[in-house]
Amino acid sequence: QVTLRDVRKSYGKTEVIPPLNLEIQSGELIALVGPSGSGKSTLLRVIAGLGDINGGTITVDGTDVTENDPGERDMAMVFQSYALYPHMTVAENMSFALRMAKVDAAEIARRVAEAVRILALEGLEDRKPGQLSGGQRQRVAMGRAIVRQPAVFLFDEPLSNLDAKLRAKTRLELRQLHDRLGATSIFVTHDQIEAMTMADRIVLLDHGRIQQIGTPQDIYHRPLNRFVAGFIGSPE
Ligand code: ATP
Ligand code: MG
Repeated sequence: QVTLRDVRKSYGKTEVIPPLNLEIQSGELIALVGPSGSGKSTLLRVIAGLGDINGGTITVDGTDVTENDPGERDMAMVFQSYALYPHMTVAENMSFALRMAKVDAAEIARRVAEAVRILALEGLEDRKPGQLSGGQRQRVAMGRAIVRQPAVFLFDEPLSNLDAKLRAKTRLELRQLHDRLGATSIFVTHDQIEAMTMADRIVLLDHGRIQQIGTPQDIYHRPLNRFVAGFIGSPE
């Protein structure tokens, strides 16, 4: 369970997220959608603990983590502009955090193999990032999060560089992984079909404010206001 109470975030004098309240249940997969610049990435970074917030509290399973560093939050984030370690292979990129945490070698091998299968990266384990396509690199960035098996996944448009077929496969795999781990996930996407098919609930953000939160059916059939009605179903 992830709870935000009156969380605010400004860059300089610009308030990007006015006081925001959000409660996400354990095991939920939330799709975070909204126009470009609405604050989706900012909100994920706030939850991950990257950069200071200007007020409010964040709790995970009842524990206040507001003052915790990112490394102390049992969360894994995949960034919109992901950066891989260029001198490490695919397998080394994925296993790095686990090696740092002194996880048993056999367990590391097992988790990396699982991530490679989920992300359809078989045969590329020994390549360096420079020898991969954009979509392959994006999947390696996902792999680095997956192998950590955190309580909370924060994904910022992780499938944006994949073709339609691979996207469909990967989102199914990710949903299954999320369910199997009993994780809580927040998934930013510009793809409304993806949000509708993957998510338990959709959060629609505009100017840092939640315009509506509800099941895909709710949002689609019962939009709360003109903004929601206009956003859903529009190609953006
Ligand atoms: P997109 O869909 O394009 O990724 P987004 O919803 O993720 O957009 P954010 O990246 O969260 O949007 O940005 C929200 C607002 O905050 C934007 O107006 C952006 O210009 C501003 N912003 C983001 N990062 C910074 C920063 N480091 N300094 C100042 N302003 C920022
Ligand atoms: Mg963004």
